[in-house]
Amino acid sequence: MAKIIAVANQKGGVGKTTSTLSLGAAFKELGNRVLLVDLDPQGSLTLAMGSDPETLEHTVYTALRDVAEHEEVTRDNLHIIRSKEGIDLIPTNIELSQADIDLVREPLGIFALRDILQAVSDYDYIFIDCPPSLGILTTNALAAANQVIIPLQADYLALKGVNLLLRTITKIQRRANRNLKIGGVFLTMADTRTLHTKEMIETTHSALDGKIPVFQTMIKMSVYLKEAPVSGQSILAYASDTNSAASYRQLAQEMIEAAE
Ligand code: ADP
Ligand code: MG
Repeated sequence: MAKIIAVANQKGGVGKTTSTLSLGAAFKELGNRVLLVDLDPQGSLTLAMGSDPETLEHTVYTALRDVAEHEEVTRDNLHIIRSKEGIDLIPTNIELSQADIDLVREPLGIFALRDILQAVSDYDYIFIDCPPSLGILTTNALAAANQVIIPLQADYLALKGVNLLLRTITKIQRRANRNLKIGGVFLTMADTRTLHTKEMIETTHSALDGKIPVFQTMIKMSVYLKEAPVSGQSILAYASDTNSAASYRQLAQEMIEAAE
């Protein structure tokens, strides 16, 4: 059975897409079969893995639509793409923004992604890159996942938003997915040279400790992480020897240890 991990935070630009791809690459490097799912209509993950969303005929949207029309989704009609570094992807494009409407209308529309992922349960890890909202797409991801991890930018306002996300997670746990666990929060884009960031790291730990796990690993600000998507590769392939690549490998290790 695949372990399904949602990467969620309703705030945009906190490192969800970057972390989905980097962790996917790190788990693959450890010998796992890894599948990524781009659930953000903007298609940033699809682009960052070297595909042009506009040219795609089969996406997570067409699969969700098939499920809504009660058609069975199989491995063959999912059209999984393999990136040039060998990571598998269910891509997306802007059509997915339509799913917001389709799925809300559908009774049990919250379980559509879960149905799709049953067709690919032979992967070891499936990571879902969530959109920056708490709408039906993110709730689909949370209903399908075993675990949710939360990238958090090291600033004060970002921390405030976590409570809202936690409330949504609790609701999903009660009503839709009792198996959903909170893997934890990890800090991203940390500029450790500034006092503000140093204070934020302490504030995050004191605000969240005892409530939800906070990973020790922190992803620092790095230009390599900005550049990697242009090459269509993860940081592990683009700049394997950097601190950024090492940090994501370490985060993957921490996730494995926490699961034991
Ligand atoms: P989200 O998916 O939450 O919207 P992204 O992963 O797309 O966030 O990141 C937003 C932007 O910040 C992207 O341009 C990405 O390349 C860049 N970025 C992500 N993490 C870092 C980091 N640690 N250091 C510098 N830039 C980063
Ligand atoms: Mg994103």
